[in-house]
Order: sequence, then structure tokens, then C-alpha cells
Amino acid sequence: MITKWHWDQGRLNYFQFENLKAIAHCLKDLEGIVINQKGVDPLRAELERYTGLPFAPNTYRVWRNYKRVFECSFLATTINDRLYITDFCKRVTENETKKIDVDEFLSLFIPRFRFPFVAFTDYHKSTNLVYPFCAVLKYLISNFQLGKQLSISLEEVFVFIIGNNCTGLEPLEHYTTLKKTNYEPEGDEKRQVREMLIFISQLSILKWYHGSLFLDISAKDFEDYNGFQHLINPIFKEPKEIREEEYLSMTSLSKEIVYPFKLQSREIPTDDIFVEGKRTRVTHIKIERSPLLRKLFFKEYPETICDMCVCDTKKRYPWTDNLLEVHHVLPLSSTLLITGSGTSLSDVVGLCPNCHKSVHTYYKNWLNKYKVDDFKNRTEAKEIYQLAKGSIIL
Ligand SMILES: [Zn+2]
Ligand SMILES: [Zn+2]
Repeated sequence: MITKWHWDQGRLNYFQFENLKAIAHCLKDLEGIVINQKGVDPLRAELERYTGLPFAPNTYRVWRNYKRVFECSFLATTINDRLYITDFCKRVTENETKKIDVDEFLSLFIPRFRFPFVAFTDYHKSTNLVYPFCAVLKYLISNFQLGKQLSISLEEVFVFIIGNNCTGLEPLEHYTTLKKTNYEPEGDEKRQVREMLIFISQLSILKWYHGSLFLDISAKDFEDYNGFQHLINPIFKEPKEIREEEYLSMTSLSKEIVYPFKLQSREIPTDDIFVEGKRTRVTHIKIERSPLLRKLFFKEYPETICDMCVCDTKKRYPWTDNLLEVHHVLPLSSTLLITGSGTSLSDVVGLCPNCHKSVHTYYKNWLNKYKVDDFKNRTEAKEIYQLAKGSIIL
């Protein structure tokens, strides 16, 4: 029997890593609270305050309506009607030295998430375990090793992976021999699986574009084979009868170490690290050095005019192709935004190498001046970018 894949639907914005972090901080502060209180919803006002997001509609309790967001993202569950927060929630809200970024978060999440999953009403203990994210990544990586396609479309996930009942536990080679099936998704399945994939596309080595999930690594990155092994190989834990026990077991990290994969081609030890003396957050650099992002961005915006100094680099240096670099204008630890159509390019600008270097220096000076290690939100990050832009002398 084929295992169906389930997820939440219509709430991608809440699965944005920045928003998950804000949700995690809020839930941590409310740990232990009774969910179903008479006449009052203990979550709504607090969640809206922490995240700036609506938790509509107001006629339903937040937990009832957003339970799948909290549970699928491994942040929290309820035990005897009390809010229980997980090790994942604690990890995300740690202070600077211990807190984890999106790559680390998903590196812990992907090998643990499996079906049957307790957030769905049909939960039952089973020995038929399916690790959907490991299966998709194994498919992508095994094809990458063969020098074949670097992407998988939603339809291919159905006809190759789900149709063949892949579990994520098979060896890599298995994924290169899969035969096409005629599996067809029913009802909300298509939408849910698409949103699952867009959720993990926040990993710096993945992008979702035009209905396909792309693996965004170079052959050099793949030298860190160990890091990828930890990402794609399921972590087996004995299935539990009781849903609360199963959830706690799946999300338990105790002292577990994160094994983030290294992106050799994007992390250079001499990188400008924005804030000295603090643990470096390299999310910004990892995003901007993505070869695929560059390709997608310039395909959509082929002009060669720098967003800061408005120099048309192609006109000035007619023998060059495109000197511009991509710069991400959200907070340094932010991922590219995800929308229903996938990885968003709306917060990316093209800058000439001089302006790009100079805006990083502007950021560094600003962060040092205010003794912070990142911009507090998207608005502030965009404002500081505009300030830098307005400060150049043309
Ligand atoms: Zn410029
Ligand atoms: Zn930049």
C-alpha cells in the first residue's frame, strides 16, 4: 500500500524561517499554558504581537486552526491541553552562541520528519515509515552524481517517488533506477506536497522555481560528502503507540550535534563577517554566492545597471558580459522569501562589485555602531540599504 504524503496547506508564509523563529520565541514564553481557556484564546494576541502576522479567522481558536504549522515545523504540541515546546523550539530561540540558522534547523529536521505523522488525524503506530524529505534529496543527489538533471518537478515527485513508495531509507543507487508509475495525486495532495517542498527549499542548497525543486550545489560543494550524508539519511527512532510520545521522540534533540553541510564554493575564510567577535552568520553570503540564484535573477532581470550607482556595466565595459553581483536586502540571517510560486527574487538587487563591497562595509559599520549582529526585521534591513544607497556620492 502506498503511503500518502500530508502537510499543511495555505500557510506558507508562516513556514518562512523568520516567522517560525518569531513563533518559537512566542511559544517558548507561553510554555505550559492551558490552551482551551474559557472565553479567551491565550495564543492569539501574543502570537500576533511577536510575529506581526494575523492568525485569522478570529472565530476559531488559534491552536485549532494553526496546529499543523506548529506541529509540522517541530516547534510545539499539546499534552493534556497544555502547550508543550520541543527541543527544536528551544534550539531556535537560543542566544547568539548556540542559536541555529535555517540550514542547521533543516539539517536536524529533514532526517527526522516521517510518516505516519502525529499532526494528522489518521495517526497510528506503524513499521511502514516514510522519510519524504530524505527521499526527495536522495533522488536529487543520486541524479547529480550521475551528472543528470538537477531538479525534480512536482509531478515527478508523484510518479517516481510517491508512486514507487520510496521511504528515504533506500541506498542512493535505488533512486537512479526508479521506473515511472502512473500515480495521480488526489484532492489536496498536490497542494500539500508542493508546500512541503517549498518549505525545505529554504535550505541554501535548494531553490523552488517554476514548479520544480532544484539542487543548487557545485561539484566542489559535494566534496563535503559527510555533511550531505547527515542530511539525507533518516534517523531511526522506534515508533510509538501514543501520539504525544511519538512526537516527543521525533523532535527530541537532547545534546545532539548539528552536522551542517559545508558549501566549499560559497564559504571563504577571509569573508567579511559583518560583526567581529561574534559567531559568524554566513546565511547572507551563502545566498548571494548561489550560482543558481544568480542565473535565475539575471534571467528575470537581464539589465546590467547597478542598483546603487546606476552604472551600466555592460555599456562602460563593453567587452564584459555581466559584472553585476546579487545582493540580498533582507536581514543577514534571513532566507530568501518563499511564496506560493517558490523562491522569491523580490528582495534581490544587482550591484556592481564596488557597490556590493561598499554596502557590506556600510552594514558592518552600522551594526558595530549599534552593537547588534543583525537588522531587527525586514523593514530595518531595507531602510539601511536605502541609507547606504543615498549616501554614495555620484
Ligand atoms: Zn555600483
Ligand atoms: Zn550582499
